[in-house]
Amino acid sequence: MLWAICDLVSRGYTFRVVALAGGSHARNSRHYAGLAFDVDTINGIRVNYGNRYWRGFLKRCRELGATETFGPGDRGHSTHIHVAWSK
Ligand SMILES: [Zn+2]
Repeated sequence: MLWAICDLVSRGYTFRVVALAGGSHARNSRHYAGLAFDVDTINGIRVNYGNRYWRGFLKRCRELGATETFGPGDRGHSTHIHVAWSK
């Protein structure tokens, strides 16, 4: 997962990670296994449906192997995106 974050940075994305491991998440969330992160700001713009960056960001994460991606339009993710990898 960390090399995926580095890849995204190298592609010119700047973003704020608001949760790695820990925090408060759904039971069995992959956050507890350190396999997920949430982002609430991309390239200086808060994540919401009108943010033009999050779709491309999630697409790139899937190309990097992410198997669970949520964002605006998904329940509970109107203001942040969630990206997770499998064990
Ligand atoms: Zn999350």
